[in-house]
Amino acid sequence: MSTSKPNPLTYLITGGAGFIGSHVVDALLAAGQRVLVIDNLSTGRLANIAHQLDHPAFHFARADITDGIVMDRLASDADIIIHLAAAVGVKLIVEHPVHTIETNVMGTEAVLQTALRYNCRVLLASTSEVYGKGSKIPFSEEDDVLLGATSKSRWSYAASKMVDEFLAFAYQREFGLQVVPLRLFNTVGPRQTGRYGMVVPQFVRQAIRGEPITVYGDGSQTRCFCHVQDVTRAIIGLAQHPDALGQVYNIGSTEEITIGELAERVKTITHSQSPIITIPYAEAYAPGFEDMQRRVPDTSRIQTLLGWQPRYSLDEILRAVMEYEQNRLKEITGGE
Ligand code: UDP
Repeated sequence: MSTSKPNPLTYLITGGAGFIGSHVVDALLAAGQRVLVIDNLSTGRLANIAHQLDHPAFHFARADITDGIVMDRLASDADIIIHLAAAVGVKLIVEHPVHTIETNVMGTEAVLQTALRYNCRVLLASTSEVYGKGSKIPFSEEDDVLLGATSKSRWSYAASKMVDEFLAFAYQREFGLQVVPLRLFNTVGPRQTGRYGMVVPQFVRQAIRGEPITVYGDGSQTRCFCHVQDVTRAIIGLAQHPDALGQVYNIGSTEEITIGELAERVKTITHSQSPIITIPYAEAYAPGFEDMQRRVPDTSRIQTLLGWQPRYSLDEILRAVMEYEQNRLKEITGGE
């Protein structure tokens, strides 16, 4: 392997075997870049990157991001780190609050420290959860944020990601590290697992299996769903743009839909006979659970910088997820 700085660039993707990470890997390799991945496969899946394992410009390390030796070796070879490794999914967060806080805070600190050693640019995945219970629609990057009480563990995820953002900016101000925090809104598409409660894979899976489609609460809460390939394009665009540095960017769709309507839409697209049922939040998550009623991004900042806009409609996304889930179901049931 050459010791001079490679041109194309070398990207280190933490969480590269995960849902979003694996799509970023595919897009970078397709664009002729070198890609290193670190993933402990806690929520990521080897199957997501299996098709790239023999690629000459790809290297995978199964390790934790807090493993200083592995991170150091990988970062020493990288120009840009895209830090996606995190505890994600509201269900996982509510069930494992200690793991969530520790992974998100200590893991990010480890990534920033290593990046500083090798002067890597860092793109850091944060979340729209940071906007908490804010009622101003749409959410803009410089808005105030309003989180719930610390007794409600759901908000620990938002708080941990806010610490990540603060930490990133602190590294920039004090040490000159190049950072770009990204607030990802609801991202969906093939390879997203329904295991951690994410609504789109969950609904699609329920619909194609003929099981009840479980709407939590009364279904009037809204979300905007963005195709993972649109999100990937945004992340790579920001990674490569010199003027992206030092600001947070919202990444998401602005096509808003209630969860009740989403259930209907999934049922129609999958031609399912599944009943749609409602389940109280306290039963679905934990007593006292607080949801976000509406969540819509203001994407003018990224649009102005990159001209970025989502290309996929919600129906196209749902069809893509349906095909992916149908194929997975065939694999599980032996192909009939
Ligand atoms: N949701 C639902 N049924 C499910 C899973 C989720 O009604 O089986 C709701 C959830 O309560 C939330 C929305 O769908 O209002 C989006 O949930 P998700 O976990 O996908 O993402 P969030 O936006 O909460 O991070």
